[in-house]
Amino acid sequence: MSPLILDGKKLATLVEQDLSARVAALKERTGRTPILATILVGDDPSSATYVKMKGNACRRVGMDSLSVVMPSTTTTEELLARIQELNNDPLVQGILLQHPVPHQIDERQCFDAISIEKDVDGVTCLGFGRMSMGEPAYGSATPQGIMTILKHYGIEMSGKHAVVVGRSPILGKPMALMLLAADATVTVCHSRTRNLADHVRQADIIVGAVGKPEFIKAEWIKDGAVVVDAGYHTGGVGDIQLSALGDRISAFTPVPGGVGPMTIATLMTQTVMAAEKQWK
Ligand code: NAP
Repeated sequence: MSPLILDGKKLATLVEQDLSARVAALKERTGRTPILATILVGDDPSSATYVKMKGNACRRVGMDSLSVVMPSTTTTEELLARIQELNNDPLVQGILLQHPVPHQIDERQCFDAISIEKDVDGVTCLGFGRMSMGEPAYGSATPQGIMTILKHYGIEMSGKHAVVVGRSPILGKPMALMLLAADATVTVCHSRTRNLADHVRQADIIVGAVGKPEFIKAEWIKDGAVVVDAGYHTGGVGDIQLSALGDRISAFTPVPGGVGPMTIATLMTQTVMAAEKQWK
């Protein structure tokens, strides 16, 4: 049987339809339009593209975005001051600081300066801690989007062995905790993991979040596994060797059109949630 395609693009379209209605209702009730502030520091072309895509998504659902662009020479203090202004700006409901920022900036300090009410990309330590403890918080957008995909397609997580390859603060680590909260048994692998292939072979659910093209080999993945590929690299490949898997697996996120669109849809969802909460 052909594996189930966990179609993030299609799901993102459904999510956007729902958000458009919620934004229209907010406008009707308050006369206001939710605004996501996007901060781009430096001139990395991929980051500029991602920020542009996020601004476009805002407009698709009837929200506005406020684009803040800062030079590559920006200091931590300058960025912190700008974030503070946005925290205090009543017109702004959510703040996105595009990762990565230039190396001279203390990214963690800047993420943590975003007020918890406006942390719609789920990047603060406070939000991470709350999410980890099962308290209300906006989840880190990419893993939260992956959870939405898995739930939407009815993928059973309880009691399953999930193996996450990668432990970055915005992806691998929160992913592991979200899977744990869904009652999966979770293994987290990283660059010092020994016998990586043996760990991957155990996975009922495998999440590739390594940042290296087709690094996780098809032959490591067991029959019937659910395959989630968070990576995206030029040439339309992810972090997992998807093309060589054939029909052996039960479900997979395609690259492109899997995790990426749901990352943006999640950011939009959490911005609408922030506006709904702030304008109660
Ligand atoms: P990252 O910060 O570079 O983290 C990569 C992780 O992979 C690290 O934890 C690292 O381990 C681990 N790793 C590196 N080499 C390894 C090896 N040989 N064996 C096992 N683990 C290894 O990357 P990221 O930001 O988490 O992103 C991961 C991937 O997701 C990338 O392909 C990125 O493009 C993609 N991504 C997609 C979206 C989206 O919206 N679709 C959003 C964010 C990221 P250490 O911790 O030990 O260094």
